[in-house]
Amino acid sequence: MSCYEECDCKCGQEGNEFDSMILSETNFDVTASQLAHSNMGWFCGFDDLHDNQWPISKDDGVYLLWEKNDYCPVHEKFHSKALYVGKGRVKARIYDHAKKKGFTEGNIIYFTFLEMPNRKAKYIEQLLLDLYDFPLNRAENNGRGKLCAYISQEEADFGS
Ligand SMILES: [Zn+2]
Ligand SMILES: [Zn+2]
Repeated sequence: MSCYEECDCKCGQEGNEFDSMILSETNFDVTASQLAHSNMGWFCGFDDLHDNQWPISKDDGVYLLWEKNDYCPVHEKFHSKALYVGKGRVKARIYDHAKKKGFTEGNIIYFTFLEMPNRKAKYIEQLLLDLYDFPLNRAENNGRGKLCAYISQEEADFGS
């Protein structure tokens, strides 16, 4: 049985396909769970980034944008679905998303990121695009899987 109405997944398994591929192809020591929970923050519009002052890296890295869309009362986790993966100067890229009119359609978008050299970020971005379907990525997104994460109330409230 699934934990959610919006999705057929269960709490606790985040990006298994990603984890096994990256382990077999690299020694990066990066997991889907790290990608889904590191340096979390959120925005609805640009003012949220400005007001909350999350320490967003100005350096290179890979980042993900998420939508929180369901709740599992059994495990007390929110379901979030990955919308977009990107790489580059993390702060500049996330600020650009938040400034873009109509990007979020009034919804709260959560972001997570990991700092890393661009070369690594490129590989991770490509692997994610090959495995999963990201509704907001247009280019090179052949993946058909769903990338889901399960976040706690504390994470949802404050970022991490
Ligand atoms: Zn799911
Ligand atoms: Zn659950």
